[in-house]
Amino acid sequence: MAQHTITLIPGDGIGPEISHAMQRVVDATGVSIEWEIAEAGAHLLESEGTPLPQSTIDSIKRNKVAIKGPVTTPVGTGFRSINVALRKELDLYTNLRPAFSLEGTGTLYKDIDLVVVRENTEDLYAGVEFEEGSEGAKGLIEYCAEQGAGVIRPDSGISIKPISITGSRRIVKWAFEYALANGRKSVCAVHKANIQKHSDGLFLKVAREVAEEYEGRIEFEDRIVDACCMGLVLNPQQFDVLVLPNLYGDIVSDLCAGMVGGLGIAPGANIGEDYAVFEPVHGSAPKHAGKGIANPTALLLTASLMLAHLGERDAADRLVNAIRAVLKKGTQVTYDIKRTNTGSTDGSVSTEEYADAVIAEL
Ligand code: NAD
Repeated sequence: MAQHTITLIPGDGIGPEISHAMQRVVDATGVSIEWEIAEAGAHLLESEGTPLPQSTIDSIKRNKVAIKGPVTTPVGTGFRSINVALRKELDLYTNLRPAFSLEGTGTLYKDIDLVVVRENTEDLYAGVEFEEGSEGAKGLIEYCAEQGAGVIRPDSGISIKPISITGSRRIVKWAFEYALANGRKSVCAVHKANIQKHSDGLFLKVAREVAEEYEGRIEFEDRIVDACCMGLVLNPQQFDVLVLPNLYGDIVSDLCAGMVGGLGIAPGANIGEDYAVFEPVHGSAPKHAGKGIANPTALLLTASLMLAHLGERDAADRLVNAIRAVLKKGTQVTYDIKRTNTGSTDGSVSTEEYADAVIAEL
């Protein structure tokens, strides 16, 4: 019997191609996995009436762990992003985005090894918004004036930024627990508490309280988000685990991904108390779909995060080391890496050939 049953959502666009390659590589690590294939994507709209069928949500709830390829966000259909829907439905409050240098990927920086932990459920992403000119916006503007909270121009649109003690505590605790479990030394809380006193200020206050529980085990510091960005560009090696509210987390994690080579190699995960959905950062790259040339590295690194989450640390490490070896040699790499390294795609290999090269290094 398989040791683990995992929901695999291949997605659409390049998703099915890179998922197939990932499945082969993970199976080759020797970890015994039964893959339960579940569907999501715009292509289901006609047959199922939704891009995210209930059977897919049920499969994740049953298995607790899923790995997902990218899905195209249907435009103009009234459906919001499938990814946002999954995060809400499963309360996946942590977005985990490690960023580490891989030789052979044309990275600007060397020796980066940091982890971005982004809060996934609140902040300006809560979706509490008032359109300019609406009754809600007018009422809120009046209310703020009455309360002496400040003057808002009458022709303003308004987005609310809620940050709670509950949301802050659980994400900061998650970051510290991750640091402990993964041999990390420090956690840095990133905020703009000097300006946004009651939202970011609360996040920082809670972060300091949580940090006390880990005193002597994990170091703690905090940075204002703008200074943090400058520090990342000047000296990224100074950072270890960063924990951020949703919006700063979104921006800073992309900054970090860019510093280590970009979308084709950026892994990620959305994790909650009960469920975890592992997915690369990149999208469905529709223009490359069906050609068998997409780079599966981001999904392979994502799979290594999943293996570590499943307690298969040895396989996770072997997988990352195999990827490192193939990229370092640079001879059997996909078109995007080849182009970055040589300025031409000549001599690049297919998705499956790259997967074979990784398997040979396991
Ligand atoms: P994208 O990530 O699909 O593509 C951006 C660029 O990176 C393109 O040039 C693409 O060819 C390249 N690229 C991305 N992944 C690659 C890979 N593995 N190998 C080689 N090249 C790769 O971003 P986009 O074009 O903005 O989005 C396309 C669709 O994907 C949209 O519908 C978007 O909503 C969706 N999307 C989904 C997810 C997800 O499911 N998690 C994430 C982001 C975007």
